[in-house]
Amino acid sequence: MRPARHNPGVSSPSYIGRFAPSPTGPLHQGSLVAAVASYLDARAAGGQWLVRMEDLDRPRCEPGAAGIILHQLHAYGLHWDGEVLYQSRRDDAYAAALASMQTQGATFPCACTRSQLADAPRNPEGEIIYPGTCRNGLPPGAEARAWRVRVLDASTRFHDRIHGDLQQNLAREIGDFVVKRADGLFAYQLAVVVDDAFQGVTHVVRGADLLWNTPRQIHLQTLLGVPTPRYAHVPLITNAVGQKLSKQTLAPALPEHGRGAVMAQALAVLGQMPPVDLFGADPVELLEWARTHWHIEYVPLRPGIANVVP
Ligand code: GLU
Repeated sequence: MRPARHNPGVSSPSYIGRFAPSPTGPLHQGSLVAAVASYLDARAAGGQWLVRMEDLDRPRCEPGAAGIILHQLHAYGLHWDGEVLYQSRRDDAYAAALASMQTQGATFPCACTRSQLADAPRNPEGEIIYPGTCRNGLPPGAEARAWRVRVLDASTRFHDRIHGDLQQNLAREIGDFVVKRADGLFAYQLAVVVDDAFQGVTHVVRGADLLWNTPRQIHLQTLLGVPTPRYAHVPLITNAVGQKLSKQTLAPALPEHGRGAVMAQALAVLGQMPPVDLFGADPVELLEWARTHWHIEYVPLRPGIANVVP
């Protein structure tokens, strides 16, 4: 696949970053950390910062959430470049990528239901390791439900700018994974790779919960013949009982008031400590300080803990 570039330009910028929220609800303190880190890393490098709405999983999206997220980004001084890309409008591109992998024989139809796979072994992340049931053909009488991509029994190595050199054996730790789901929707892994390539993304800065998705995405990039961006996975924020802040753990939306304090906390989670004279500053002043003092090497591995929202 040779992706059409979203940002054709006379000179190809050396840094294109992005923030890719799923509009399942408003941004919370945890998602702000990923937004701020990707924004600062891009702006400190003089690069572009794009926003992509990952509204792929229609049933999980909340009506109105995309608009709220864009409003929140503005309110926190996080101004993006160009048009927002909506994954819900990109099915043709995902279908073309799947077709290209099908032509290579890199995919196969799968008839397994969730309950049939329930007893399969799981990796330390709790994900099912696909046991290969349909890899060599559907069982007699079974109907195709999803499409999976074949993985290799070899290490996929990559360098994360925060976590260092990492590797994963996709066959042993993940198994052949879904690229088109049984409900007909394209899988996140495929969409993110197609869109990062389409948008010319050179640097991905996102939450550490996605660290172990990276080898799957590198595998798809190789099959599709698109470049692998540089990766950095920033710490998550947990609540007082150690759960990742999310809609499921009832994380509160970013507040309308006291935005400076919330921004200061996001910077602290990222290991960037504004000077005391910026105490009480607004998000724009804090971001401007952080842009000129951004050090990705100060970003810690450990998660931050959410303070009570002011
Ligand atoms: N949409 C994903 C999320 O909100 C992020 C995907 C990515 O940054 O690659 O968790």
